[in-house]
Amino acid sequence: MSDRASAEARSAESISRNVAGGSLRAEDLLDEVVSRIGASDPKLGAFVHFDPTEARGALERCPREGKLAGVPFAAKDNISTRGTLTTCASRILEGYRSPTDATVISRLAGAGAWVAGKTNLDEFAMGSSTEHSVFGPTSNPWDTSRVPGGSSGGSAAAVAAGIVPFALGSDTGGSVRQPASFCGVVGLKPTWGRVSRSGLVAFASSLDQIGVFSRSARDCARVLGVIAGHDPLDSTSSLEAVPDYEERLEQGLGGVRVGVVDGTWESLDAEMRSSFERSLGILRSLGATIDRVALPSLGLSIAVYYIVANAEASANLARFDGIRYGRRASGDLSLRETWVRSRTEGFGDEVKRRIMLGTFALSSGYYDAYYGRAQQVRAAISAEFRRAFEDVDLIAMPTTPSVAFRKGEKLDDPLAMYLSDVFTAPANLAGIPAISVPADVSAGGLPIGLQFLGPHFGESLLLRAARAMESEVSLPRIAPGF
Ligand code: GLN
Repeated sequence: MSDRASAEARSAESISRNVAGGSLRAEDLLDEVVSRIGASDPKLGAFVHFDPTEARGALERCPREGKLAGVPFAAKDNISTRGTLTTCASRILEGYRSPTDATVISRLAGAGAWVAGKTNLDEFAMGSSTEHSVFGPTSNPWDTSRVPGGSSGGSAAAVAAGIVPFALGSDTGGSVRQPASFCGVVGLKPTWGRVSRSGLVAFASSLDQIGVFSRSARDCARVLGVIAGHDPLDSTSSLEAVPDYEERLEQGLGGVRVGVVDGTWESLDAEMRSSFERSLGILRSLGATIDRVALPSLGLSIAVYYIVANAEASANLARFDGIRYGRRASGDLSLRETWVRSRTEGFGDEVKRRIMLGTFALSSGYYDAYYGRAQQVRAAISAEFRRAFEDVDLIAMPTTPSVAFRKGEKLDDPLAMYLSDVFTAPANLAGIPAISVPADVSAGGLPIGLQFLGPHFGESLLLRAARAMESEVSLPRIAPGF
């Protein structure tokens, strides 16, 4: 088998079956990961911390049985891993080693999966291109002159290049789904509260959710089944029972009512629009019905998102002051100078921009005009989704307004960068689950994703829709050239 074919065959499901059955040694998988990172990562820059000795340690600590026996995975570098580096791609967390594993990491280890390495991101998960990283950018495996999306671009690239079968990211406004779409892989943002956030470095707590990248709906379902569920360490994690996400995966879309939202895809460029319409045709051919639904406040999502997210970020990042958390500026400094210098040296430009915008929106005299208004519109968006899900079972929407853009293209234009979240931020504002699934490839050879959104705790149906779509479109599971 060629190296590419063997990587394609390495799904989480098949690895765990073979490791548990004794026909595959997990140690051999470590050698495979080491050689794949050695061959691919110089071109991609997906991994920011990879140490074969630490990876071996993670492998040795986990059982050779369980739903993910022997399966390697990558974790975005804002998810804490015990004893190894967790830096959020920020200078302020240079050299930081977490004393504990995030709950998702310990749950995966309990099921037999081991963390191979940590992946690149926009600093503190703020961005849509993985260019705002102290380690430099990650490249898109489909075209290395382009961005992989962000902020979880390293995780998306690692899965798309066949280095690991799945990876974890975080999604505050689209950071799992948008890079999944740009890199041609599956990306799921669960319902807010479905997966514990304990050990995830907070960006905007009311929007943040840990999500999954994989090359198939089945692997995504399996990983979600392991990481979902209540966690005493995260009081906002839900008590709702975790269903068997794999059980109904193959049930298809017969009779499922899919909604499309007026005023979303009609203004896309010709190629994105016709690709979306083609996807709707596929859904119809699978037995789904397509109905139009109205979400009149959806157009305000970006404005609302960037007020709420930045306000929460400004509060969450206050702890990085060089004293309680974070690298301390050196020299004979007063308390005030220590704060100012540590934050000035430690944070990059985009993070500073967010802190300033968020602080402004929360400041006295402006609070009602910005933050208060934004919360009202957020509530209206949630209510419109609730109403829509009385008429349809799920909503289909493009994941992104364009295919992966070129590196540097939006770097000097923050607003253009923010607008790439137009279709993903609404799910975070409403706290509902959403998945991006590879649906098409553009004339220029770049992946195009399709997004499904569902009601709270509707992950089973989203995964079923993703599975149905994947069975109809045959696209490379690993980027051509890897
Ligand atoms: N691109 C969005 C932002 O920059 C979303 C980031 C995310 O989901 N972490 O805020």
